[in-house]
Amino acid sequence: MGIPEFAVTPFTDFSKEENRRKMEEAIAKVESTLGREWSLVLGGERVRSKDQFLSHNPSDPNQIVGVFQKATTTEAERAIQIADRTFDTWKWTPAEERAQFCFRVANLMRERRFELAAWMIFEVGKNWVEADADVAEAIDLVDFYGREVLRYAEEQPLVRIPTERNELRYIPLGVGIIIPPWNFPLAILSGMTTMAWAAGNTVVLKPSSDAPATAKQYVQLIEEAGLPPGVVNLLTGPGSGIGDFLVAHPHTRFISFTGSKTVGLRINEIASRIEPGQLWIKRVVAEMGGKDPIIVDSEADLDAAAQGVMVSAFGYSGQKCSACSRAIVDTSIYDTFLERLVEKTKRLKVGPARDPETYIGPVVNMGAMAKILDYIDMGRREGRLILGGNRAGEHGCFVEPTIIVDVDRKATIAQEEIFGPVLTVIRAQDFRDAINIANDSEYGLTGSVYTRNRDKMSWAADEVHVGNLYFNRKSTGALVGVHPFGGFNMSGTDSKAGGRDYYLLFTQAKCISEVVPVQPAAAKG
Ligand code: NAP
Repeated sequence: MGIPEFAVTPFTDFSKEENRRKMEEAIAKVESTLGREWSLVLGGERVRSKDQFLSHNPSDPNQIVGVFQKATTTEAERAIQIADRTFDTWKWTPAEERAQFCFRVANLMRERRFELAAWMIFEVGKNWVEADADVAEAIDLVDFYGREVLRYAEEQPLVRIPTERNELRYIPLGVGIIIPPWNFPLAILSGMTTMAWAAGNTVVLKPSSDAPATAKQYVQLIEEAGLPPGVVNLLTGPGSGIGDFLVAHPHTRFISFTGSKTVGLRINEIASRIEPGQLWIKRVVAEMGGKDPIIVDSEADLDAAAQGVMVSAFGYSGQKCSACSRAIVDTSIYDTFLERLVEKTKRLKVGPARDPETYIGPVVNMGAMAKILDYIDMGRREGRLILGGNRAGEHGCFVEPTIIVDVDRKATIAQEEIFGPVLTVIRAQDFRDAINIANDSEYGLTGSVYTRNRDKMSWAADEVHVGNLYFNRKSTGALVGVHPFGGFNMSGTDSKAGGRDYYLLFTQAKCISEVVPVQPAAAKG
């Protein structure tokens, strides 16, 4: 049976009563299961470790989402050994079969769409719309990667010569350590993990300690889909405790990481050292932070620009790597733009993620909230605070949407990733100046430009140095297959997740050549 062409999953329309009801039911169902204890999954076996840790609901930190195993290096060693052994068989699984596992997982995600979203509402404070978008992206990544497995299994184009038969095969690498962040706890985790095993590798999955329950949902889905035990091994526990061990292990063949610059660079450094018994140079794919700019030009549609900046800066409380954290605004429209931006931002409702009216939910935990409030304090000194600036409420991890203007391009809040609902506004003298400011960053992930001038658009297309550049739209919301995603410079290795280059990062190419015997020339006459 033919596989239909890939299509992006539409978001759920919560203005429809039926969808609202399904979401409410899913929230109630998930809430009734919160607080239970979950095991490690090593070779399909449920394993308990000596110590446990808790996952909390950031909207209501007294609510325990689940109890998780704090794996040590003993369990980490076991996980790698199992993955290593399983690789010997899994690597021979035909591409068609691996692809079918992907399609089954995607279908299960479609069936559980509301429930999966509900887990993220509780565990990482996504509002309904953001949680639904996370599931939609997860479905798309798994579905898209299934097709990629089939595409790369086809005959690869090579230049023909008459004396040889040549073939290029993409074969798996071995044991991969998959380390995702908490901010897209289903989509990014599913994308990174699925591509790894779908390409024929085996995996130790070390999820973020802020989102282990969502990771557990993914692992349950792949088990239900029939993926053999040992292909994915779930190892919860602190990255600071087991991360170095996993990365340094001589049987680790590759590390696929998404998270902060600090941790990504550490992984890159540790992985570069050759351990006794190690046969390969480890491959590191590290997708890291951003300080994403939106340029608002003198020739921009100011309403659209204010809307785009507002959504990019404050969607999911600014906790997206693609969030706009620097608005770079032409001096001629600076005051008018700010008026419109403030007017729109003031209307955003801050509240618990489970409330369907909430736009700005909590930040992920108390530590993140304290760090963001520290940056805001610094911002009061480095610029002029015109909106927000405080914790919202007294109970959960809520921070008001905050706008700090008149900030110097070199200020700390204009250079460091804050990862919260804090927007820095910088004045540009003209378009050239705006491009220079945009590029004045160690990061280079996403960026947007609002202008109606096509010459300026082509100028920016050439010169703004980011992996994903958008015109007259928000800097967030990359779609699978449509906007392959990854950043430059300290934003990472530019993996272009959700694109046609991604599969290659999880494989190595083997070229097989055979001499074709020369046919004797036919006798004349
Ligand atoms: P993080 O603190 O770097 O953590 C990411 C992952 O690394 C977590 O699973 C963490 O586990 C683990 N970890 C921590 N220390 C480790 C170590 N020494 N060795 C190995 N693993 C270790 O990042 P985060 O707070 O989860 O995520 C936010 C960051 O991710 C932001 O910087 C954001 O920009 C970035 N991000 C980038 C992209 C992209 O595509 N470029 C996408 C999403 C997010 P624990 O939780 O147990 O510490």
